[in-house]
Amino acid sequence: MSDPRRYEAEVGIIGGSGIYELDALTDVRRVRVSTPYGDPSGELVLGELSGTRVAFVPRHGARHHILPSRIPARANIHALKSLGVRQILGISAVGSLREDYAPGDLVVPDQIVDRTRADRGATFFDQDVVVHVAFAEPYCGRLRQLLIEAAGRATMATVHDSGTYCCMEGPQFSTRAESEMHRRLGFDLIGMTAVPEAKLAREAELCYAALCLVTDYDCWFDGHEDVTAQAVVDVMRRNSEAAKATLTTLLAKKSVDPECACQNVLASSINTPLEGLPDRAVERYALLLGKYLPASA
Ligand SMILES: [Zn+2]
Repeated sequence: MSDPRRYEAEVGIIGGSGIYELDALTDVRRVRVSTPYGDPSGELVLGELSGTRVAFVPRHGARHHILPSRIPARANIHALKSLGVRQILGISAVGSLREDYAPGDLVVPDQIVDRTRADRGATFFDQDVVVHVAFAEPYCGRLRQLLIEAAGRATMATVHDSGTYCCMEGPQFSTRAESEMHRRLGFDLIGMTAVPEAKLAREAELCYAALCLVTDYDCWFDGHEDVTAQAVVDVMRRNSEAAKATLTTLLAKKSVDPECACQNVLASSINTPLEGLPDRAVERYALLLGKYLPASA
């Protein structure tokens, strides 16, 4: 079957709190993309950053009006893939659950614990086809290393090369008891958006890594002010500059690898025979399963 991708960008960037646009982008064009999973968080911004074609989407919408539980993660990732994107960098604000991960620090996490409760649309394959992707390593190890190196070169901030991201439902911040519980369980970061974004990127066979910007100590640290939305926004402004510098440095070198294992993960993950799929499934999954569908489909 023909490849439905448009090849307008090779790297996707999903911006979180504090990053609603990338002012360093050149040759900018805004596009509306519709998907079988609804509309993305907003218009996608196509442009060039450090010589790389990128597509940017602000996770919470350009006006930060979409709460974490309602982010259209499936539409965002499907839209990026439809534009030709092969890897995604997710930027997000997080709270720290340990003293040595201080506000202003950057973290490239290596693990996720999913403590979300709402139905966030955590799989693309919700009918007709059953897919179980491996998720022991939720981030692309190759892209993580590139991100760690770029952050170290591009900023004066302290960069931590690992961490377990606990994804809570929100939108309220943690109680002190929850914060203490998460610390005792050994989690390092608390946030509201890593899930299902990382899961969906894996299902879409895209390399995915996250740059987390520490904004606060959640509410566990005696002597530090309890977290408020305004305090988070203030630190986020400084962090966003570090994130943008990291992206500019990372994308100055070729970072996409079509041979990365992430790019073929479905080859061993699809439980349902793809011969004889109903037409609605062939249509719904054309972009995601196209290369696996029988030629006659
Ligand atoms: Zn990869």
